[in-house]
Amino acid sequence: MYSDVIIIGAGAAGLTAGIYAAKSGRSVLILDHMKKPGKKILVTGNGKCNLSNQLQPADAYRGMDPDFIKSTLSRFGLIETLAFFKNLGICTKSKNGYLYPLSEQASSITEALCDELNHAGVKIHTEIHVSHIYKNNFFTLQTQNSEYTCESLIIAAGGCAASKQGSDGSGFSLAKELGHNIITPLPALVSLISDDKRFKVISGVRREVKAVLLAGGHEYKEAGEIIFTDNGISGIPVMQLSRFASQSLFENKKVIMTLDLFPDNSFDELFHMIWLQRKNNPGKTAENLFRGICNHKLVYLAFLECGTAPAIPGFSLQKDDISKILKYLKSFPVSITGTGDFEQAQVTMGGVDTHEVSAKTMESKLISNLYFAGEILDVDGTCGGYNLQWAWSSGAIAGMSQNRK
Ligand SMILES: Cc1cc2nc3c(=O)[nH]c(=O)nc-3n(C[C@H](O)[C@H](O)[C@H](O)COP(=O)(O)OP(=O)(O)OC[C@H]3O[C@@H](n4cnc5c(N)ncnc54)[C@H](O)[C@@H]3O)c2cc1C
Repeated sequence: MYSDVIIIGAGAAGLTAGIYAAKSGRSVLILDHMKKPGKKILVTGNGKCNLSNQLQPADAYRGMDPDFIKSTLSRFGLIETLAFFKNLGICTKSKNGYLYPLSEQASSITEALCDELNHAGVKIHTEIHVSHIYKNNFFTLQTQNSEYTCESLIIAAGGCAASKQGSDGSGFSLAKELGHNIITPLPALVSLISDDKRFKVISGVRREVKAVLLAGGHEYKEAGEIIFTDNGISGIPVMQLSRFASQSLFENKKVIMTLDLFPDNSFDELFHMIWLQRKNNPGKTAENLFRGICNHKLVYLAFLECGTAPAIPGFSLQKDDISKILKYLKSFPVSITGTGDFEQAQVTMGGVDTHEVSAKTMESKLISNLYFAGEILDVDGTCGGYNLQWAWSSGAIAGMSQNRK
């Protein structure tokens, strides 16, 4: 079967590319191995789809080639994205800068994109898995039962994260087969694992923290609520830091996270609170003097780690003991030994080396008429709508570039 333009992947990037490619007047076909298009969009933002962010700091996007990312976003960024969705009938609302469809339903995004494609005459063939691609004058795509040919090919097959939604990493094999360098894909926006036995004691505790990650000789900071799990830590600040942990662990470097469990209180403030408790409540156990300021599981652990018996009378707790316990809680050390796997990750870091792709067109610098868009490229964003913004931006540019032919 022939089409002028074929897009592999009916995700955020592929569907956007299809809408813009159709404006060129060329025939456009989208192939996807899932039963329905836009599966991953449906699970984004807890089903509400955090489609972008009012703030667009450069460091929200990460990859080996920051200039490539900057250049792409300067061509099709937030303003263009909002105009695009407005045209599709999608109004947006902001929650602390995070942008969502006003409907608060991710399905409204998938439906609007598919309606527009239908209207533009773009066909979507589902349950078609592209296993190999050959390039002569045209591209030949090998699938289970048949072959597809096209003049122009856009690979928007996503990464390896959350393969239940379709992105099984096969896009990387296809790009590699065509001669592209793949920066090692690793899980990002994912929980962190520690083989530290202490986690069994504090599992389930949630707390606002300031987190500092030491990885590969660099220090990265985040703040917010974390959750201790049976085998590590999770929560937004942890996810934001995870790509740096992923990278360093892959390079066999040591990764340590230090948590300030009292980000809003100075050491002196806390010391005085406990000292006053000790004075006013001579009958309390040492451990119970801390009850009003911190989760009992953390306090119990801190006592054990600092070599103080939790059940001793409070009045026998000395200034040095209090100091030691508070210092431990203000810089709680966590040795990171792994990350959650790709199934738990929200995004893939690494992918098609963007030094081999034009930021103006998303066309391969190695093979003419071959384009890439979305998460398959070596670009990953932080939490807050940046990964979808990347998918809309790169997808739109890859689609618009079909107009040049
Ligand atoms: C749980 C979860 C929540 C998220 N929430 C947000 C959020 O709120 N905001 C945000 O910005 N980002 C979020 N993300 C990240 C964001 O969803 C992705 O970065 C983005 O959807 C990637 O779009 P894409 O089109 O590049 O890839 P995908 O959406 O992964 O689409 C790729 C498509 O290609 C198809 N495909 C792959 N290989 C083949 C093949 N060989 N043959 C045929 N078809 C193939 C797949 O079936 C898939 O449909 C979230 C991710 C997850 C997992």
